[in-house]
Amino acid sequence: MADQASNKAYIDYPPPLTPEQEEYLVQTVKNWTIEHGLTVRPSTAIVPKETNPKNVLATNAPVTLFPSPFPKACFELARSIQPVYNELYASVASDEQWLEEIMRELIEVDDFLANLWKIHLSVKEEGYVQDLSLGMFRSDYMAHIAEHAPPSLKQVEFNTISSSFGGLACLVAQMHTHLATFPSPKHSVAYPMHPLFATSSGDSSIHTIGHPPPNEAVATLAAGLATAHAAYGPSRSEPQLPTCIIFLVQDNERNIFDQLALSTHLDKHHHVPSFRLPTSKILAYTSIPSKDSNPCRPLIYTPPSSPSTPFEVTVVYFRALYAPTEYNTSTSWAARHHLERSAAIKCPSILLHLSGSKKVQQVLTSQPPDTDHLKAFLPTHSASVLQNLRSTFAPQYSLSAPTSEALGELEGIRLALSAETAANHVLKPQREGGGNNTYRTNIPPFLNSIPKSQWKQYILMELIRPPTAAKNTVLRSDGRVVSGNVISELGIFGTCLWRNTPGETRPEILHNTEGGYLLRTKGKDSDEGGVAAGFSSLDSLILYEEY
Ligand code: ADP
Ligand code: MG
Repeated sequence: MADQASNKAYIDYPPPLTPEQEEYLVQTVKNWTIEHGLTVRPSTAIVPKETNPKNVLATNAPVTLFPSPFPKACFELARSIQPVYNELYASVASDEQWLEEIMRELIEVDDFLANLWKIHLSVKEEGYVQDLSLGMFRSDYMAHIAEHAPPSLKQVEFNTISSSFGGLACLVAQMHTHLATFPSPKHSVAYPMHPLFATSSGDSSIHTIGHPPPNEAVATLAAGLATAHAAYGPSRSEPQLPTCIIFLVQDNERNIFDQLALSTHLDKHHHVPSFRLPTSKILAYTSIPSKDSNPCRPLIYTPPSSPSTPFEVTVVYFRALYAPTEYNTSTSWAARHHLERSAAIKCPSILLHLSGSKKVQQVLTSQPPDTDHLKAFLPTHSASVLQNLRSTFAPQYSLSAPTSEALGELEGIRLALSAETAANHVLKPQREGGGNNTYRTNIPPFLNSIPKSQWKQYILMELIRPPTAAKNTVLRSDGRVVSGNVISELGIFGTCLWRNTPGETRPEILHNTEGGYLLRTKGKDSDEGGVAAGFSSLDSLILYEEY
C-alpha cells in the first residue's frame, strides 16, 4: 500500500543516537546557529524582560537536528509550477473587477478587508502614480498520502505578503549539509549511518543525494527586490535624491536576522541600500511632497540618525501590516494609505495583499461549469501546465450563499456542520500569520456560536494527509531538545515584477523567478504550523526517490 511504501524512507529515521552522539550533535547545532546567525530574539516567555531589559540577547531559531525526508517528485513539481503560480497571482491582482466581485461580500462582514479595500478605492480615485508591483511569494504545500497512490503535492496556502524565513531557511540547509558531510560525505561524525545519508544506498529501493539540496532563497528574494529597485528608475525628486529600499517591519520583530540576511545580501551583491522602518514610525520618518511641489508623489525617507541625508524610496517591502492587530494606533490606517498612494513600488500593493486571501484561493480551486479561472488568468499556458497546477489543489468550499435560507443547500455548509465530515476539514478566515483557523470537530460548534450572516467570511478546506511515520528531533529556542512524530510543510519562494496598464486586466510580466525553499516541521498533533507563532521549527529536506 502507498502509505507503507512511502513510509519506507522513514524507517529508523532519524537514526537513533547514543547519549554521547546526541550531546555532540546538540552542542554542534547550538554553536553553529549562533556562529552563522541562524538566530532569533528570544520571546519574553523564554527570557523574562527583567533579565533582558535592553533586548540585547539572541538565541538559536527552533531547528530540527536532522533534515526531514521529502518526496523528490513533489519537490520538483512544486518548483516547476512556481513561475506559473507567480503569474497567476500577478494576474489576479491585476483584475480589479474580478477581485471586487470576491471582496464585495467579504467586506460586509470583515472590517480589516473593508479598510484595505477602502484604501485601494481612495488611491484609485486620486490616481495611482506607480504602475509596477512586486510580489515576493511563498507557496506552501504538504506531501499528501492517499491509498494506492504515490505521495502527491497539495497546496496549503499561497502567501502574497510578508513571506518569511527565506534567510534562515538557507542557513538550516547549510547547517544540515555540514552535519551530514563533516568531515567527509562518507563519514559524518554528527549523523550515524542511514540509507538516507548514503549517496549510493545499500538499499537500492531508495535513492538520495545524502544531504539537502542547495537553497537559493536569499539570492532569489534579494534579486527580486534589486530588480524592482532598478525598474523604478531615477529619483523623481527635485533636486534628485539617492534611492533606497525600505523594509517595513514590526516594532518588536523577533525574526530580525531572517530579514537582515536579505538586506545584507542586497547591499553586498546588488549595492542597493536598505533601511528598516518600524510601522509606528512610517508617518514620522517618511513624507510625500505636496501635489503642487511634486505631483509624482515620491516617498521620501529621512533616516532619524542622519536627517540631512534624505533618500527616495523605490520599493516598500512589507514584513508587517498583514494582521489587524498591527493596526493598533489612531494613525495605522493613515500610514498604510500614505504608503499606497506614494510612487514607491509596493511589495505588496493592496490589491496583491488581498489576492492572497484564502477566499481567492478557494475560488481559484473551484471550477464552475461556465468559467475556468485558471484558463482565464493564464491564457498562454498549455492544458498540461494548468493541470499540474490544478493537481496541487485540495478541495475547498465556499460558506456563502445569496440568502441565509440558501445556506442549507451549500455543500461546504453541509460538510462543516456534521461532526463526521467536519473531522476531515479546516475552517479558515481571511487572515495571515497563524493561529486563526478552526480544526475538525471544533468547526460545527464554532459555526453554531456565531450568526449565520458571518459564515461567509470563512472557507472550508479538506485536510491534507501528510506521512504519519515521520520523526525528528528539535532544538527549541530555550534549549530544550524534543523528539517525536512530525509533519513537514514545504514552502517554495518566487518573485514577480509586473506592470499594469490602465484599462488592461493583463499584467505585463517583467521578471518572474522561482528559487529557494523552506521546510517547517511541527509535532504531529499540532494543527497550526507557524514558526513565529511558536508551533513549528525550521528544517531542511532530504529528497528521496523510491523504486
Ligand atoms: P496562515 O495564513 O495562518 O499561515 P494557513 O492556511 O497556512 O494559514 O494555515 C495554518 C496552518 O494550518 C498551516 O501551516 C498548516 O500546518 C495547517 N493547515 C492549513 N490548511 C491545512 C490543510 N488543508 N490540511 C492540513 N493542514 C492545514
Ligand atoms: Mg501559512
